[in-house]
Amino acid sequence: MDQVVARQSLPDTPRIFGFFVDGKRMEAGERAYFERRSPGHDVPVTRIPKCTREDLDLAVKAARRAFEDGRWSRIPAVERADVLLRAAQILRSRAGELAYWETLENGKPISQARAEVDGCAGMFEYAAGLARTLHGDAFNNLGDGMFGLVTREPIGVVGLITPWNFPFLILCERVPYILAAGCTIVAKPSEVTSATTLMLAEILSEAGLPDGCYNVVTGSGSVIGQAMTEHLDIDMVSFTGSTAVGRRCVEAAGGNFKKLGLELGGKNPQIVFADADLEDAADGVAFGIGFNTGQCCVSGSRLIVERSVASEFEKLVAAKLAKVRIGDPLDPATQIGAITTTAQNRTILDYIAKGREEGARLVCGGGALDFGRGQYIAPTLFADVTGAMAIAREEIFGPVLAVMPFDSEAEAIAMANDTVYGLAASVWTKNIDKALNVTRRVRAGRFWVNTTLAGGPELPLGGFKQSGWGREAGSYGIEEYTQIKSVHIEIGKREPWVR
Ligand code: NDP
Repeated sequence: MDQVVARQSLPDTPRIFGFFVDGKRMEAGERAYFERRSPGHDVPVTRIPKCTREDLDLAVKAARRAFEDGRWSRIPAVERADVLLRAAQILRSRAGELAYWETLENGKPISQARAEVDGCAGMFEYAAGLARTLHGDAFNNLGDGMFGLVTREPIGVVGLITPWNFPFLILCERVPYILAAGCTIVAKPSEVTSATTLMLAEILSEAGLPDGCYNVVTGSGSVIGQAMTEHLDIDMVSFTGSTAVGRRCVEAAGGNFKKLGLELGGKNPQIVFADADLEDAADGVAFGIGFNTGQCCVSGSRLIVERSVASEFEKLVAAKLAKVRIGDPLDPATQIGAITTTAQNRTILDYIAKGREEGARLVCGGGALDFGRGQYIAPTLFADVTGAMAIAREEIFGPVLAVMPFDSEAEAIAMANDTVYGLAASVWTKNIDKALNVTRRVRAGRFWVNTTLAGGPELPLGGFKQSGWGREAGSYGIEEYTQIKSVHIEIGKREPWVR
């Protein structure tokens, strides 16, 4: 991966996007625009059309046509793989541009955005392989007169609703797998971060994806997102976002019993034992809460630390957080950028105030950072947190870490499981027995041992409990977008029923 070396300047005027249906860019025309301001600089950077329900219908019709006529779903998988591999190449060649628009709309550091685009290209390459290896099963043990097959078929038209925290990465953890399965897509990005989802449309067309297979309808979640989950001609919706909206998707999907993939919130524990490499663990814990300003569904937001080292460890983490480079997302050296939305900025500051009111002890951070423009919050560490406090129970989605001490392994496991969520967890210890016990007993879909937030195309993503349904990425990620069909084949003359 090449590094981002120079600071790019802000655009002089906001870039105007259209939406994308049936292989064509559609202009906004009479429709209103949503103007996005860069959260790191507070200047307008993009203008995105506010689509209507009729636009959604048009996109679903295009996706349905493309699916039913077999232009993508019935071609040999090797041809689908070729398109995905070409898309990966184009992604890599346009990585700088994609990272720039991602950073402007989201507020994440440009070097991080650049690395994410590289990860996205890897997703396309891996999914290309999966397209060719996807297969069913055969039963040759049903006797002389019968042969059995289990085949996988693409599920159909998939609605894809993605959030603003990783607009491009989350998109690319799903799109190549959905396409590899032979499905067609109508995507709805978060209204505040639509640019790179639209840019992917151009990239896929250039890579040779047939028209109608990837459509993008922009607009608000309450209008387009809601209409998508209710839509009777969408076969499956993959939704990533809050648990509250995930619940609304479940209710709305009842109309045609569409399948749902849900990746929702988390309140993820970082369990640190006294025998861990505390220097490594402190670095990992700081990364786990600081990365993407803590706006990750898998952020390690609860630090459950063995009491004998709690005070020392608290100081180590605070020292690490004090050294992190926070500031202008366009500066290649920045490690923590801006808070993505004004609403989220308010939510995080309210939780910090609540932590203070509830009697937690502020160790570092504790408020907004003023860089003259944009919205920034200092990584914040609260100690003496009890399991009853809101900052220990609720997903804050910001750089706020709650520290809670434990005395025994069983207590650490119980504390880690004391949440409605089950998305991710980390354990830090040099003792293999403790590492395995904790990994087995904590209920979470993703687990890290002596590391955190590691990922890649091979391992699946998804949650236990109220963190969601289904899995994305890995071989599981392609299977989610298929239906299974059982086929019984009679061999030879039928034994008559009517004699
Ligand atoms: P939402 O759950 O509201 O948004 C996620 C996506 O869903 C966006 O594309 C949004 O569109 C869309 N959406 C909104 N309402 C509906 C609806 N009724 N039907 C279908 N789709 C809808 O998250 P917020 O942006 O409001 O963030 C609130 C909280 O959610 C955060 O504080 C955080 O706790 C959590 N969150 C979790 C994420 C995760 O990765 N697990 C990601 C983002 C948020 P639009 O943005 O255009 O309104």
